[in-house]
Amino acid sequence: MWKNRQLRIRGIKSLTALTAAIALGAAISAPAQKPQQSLRIHYVDVEGGAATLIVTPAGESILVDAGWPGFDGRDAARIQTAMKRADISVIDHFINTHYHTDHYGGLPELAARVEIRNFYDHGPVDNLAEDRDFPRKYAAYRAAAKNRTTTLRPGDEIKLQRAPGTPAISLRVIASNGEVIGGRQGRPNPACTGVQLKAHDPSDNARSVAFVLRYGNFDFFDAGDLTWNIEHLLACPSDRIGVVDLYQVTHHGLNSSNNTALLRTLKPTVAIMNNGPRKGGHPDAVRDLLSLSSLQALYQVHRNVTTTPEENAPEEFIANLDEAGDAAHEITVTVDAAARTFTVTNGRTGVSRNYGVK
Ligand SMILES: [Zn+2]
Repeated sequence: MWKNRQLRIRGIKSLTALTAAIALGAAISAPAQKPQQSLRIHYVDVEGGAATLIVTPAGESILVDAGWPGFDGRDAARIQTAMKRADISVIDHFINTHYHTDHYGGLPELAARVEIRNFYDHGPVDNLAEDRDFPRKYAAYRAAAKNRTTTLRPGDEIKLQRAPGTPAISLRVIASNGEVIGGRQGRPNPACTGVQLKAHDPSDNARSVAFVLRYGNFDFFDAGDLTWNIEHLLACPSDRIGVVDLYQVTHHGLNSSNNTALLRTLKPTVAIMNNGPRKGGHPDAVRDLLSLSSLQALYQVHRNVTTTPEENAPEEFIANLDEAGDAAHEITVTVDAAARTFTVTNGRTGVSRNYGVK
C-alpha cells in the first residue's frame, strides 16, 4: 500500500502539499502499517565515470554525476534503466560534483531523455586548463540546466522531504570549490600523524562538491573526485565530519585521493568504488581501504583488469568482472533505519549482505 502512495505523491514538493494530498486523496488509503523505511542508493556502471542515484523514503531522487557522453548515449540509458528499477521517472536534484567529462559529460544526453528539476554545482567556471574542449561541454551543460543552477557552498543543505513515520534525512555539503566546512574545535586528530600533503592540485578535482547524506543514524559520504590536500582539511588537524557507514571511494579509487588520514577518521563500514576495468582501483587505495579496522567490505563496480587478484576486492564483491561484453551490473544499497541495518546487493550475483548502522 505504501508503495502505491509513494507513487501518487511523487513530485509534490512541499510537505504541506504532501500532507494535504494524503488527506484529500480518496483513493489513497490511510497508512495501516508503517511506511517502507528505506533509502536506496544505486551505483550505475558508467565504466570508470560516476553516476550515483539516491532515492529517499519519500520517493525524492538525487543523481550525483551523470557519467560519460557518447557511445550512443550509453550512460544516459544506463541511468534511465536504474531509474526504472528504482521506480522513479524524474530526477529531483542533480548534483554535478565537478566539471570533468566522466561526471557531467553525460548530463545533456540524460536531460534530453528525462526531466531534471534542480541543478547544483560548485559554481561557474570560465575555463579549465586540463580540458581544451571545456567551453563546448560547459555550454551544453548550462543549456541542459536552462542556465538555472545553484552554487553549493560548504555548510549548505539540500532540503529533502521526510516521509511520514521515517527518521530525519539531510544532505549537507562539506566541501565545494576548494573550501571545506568550519571545523569542530576538537583535539588534534591522531589519524593525521605521519600523513603528508601532496603537490598542489590545480585541477577541478580539488573543487569537487563533497557531501554527507544522513538518514536516521546512517551516514553516506560522497566526495566526487576530491583530491588529497582538500580531503586532508576535512580530517586534519581536527576531524570535521565524524564516522560514516558508507564511503563512496573517492576519485574511482585513485591514489591522488583517498587521503589515509581521512579514511582513518571516517572509519567506514562499507566502501563502494566506482572504478572502470582500466581506471581507478589503484593498489595503494585498495590496500589502505582494506587495512581499515572498521571496514567490513569493499565493493567494486569493476574488476581492475590491470592489477592482481590481491589488489582487487574478492570476486563476490565485484559487480563486473570482464572488460568485454560488459553487462553493466549495478551495486545497490538499501538502508532500513528502523532496523539500523543496510543491505548491499551485487547485481551480478544477486547476493545481498547486511551490515549494521553504527
Ligand atoms: Zn572522475
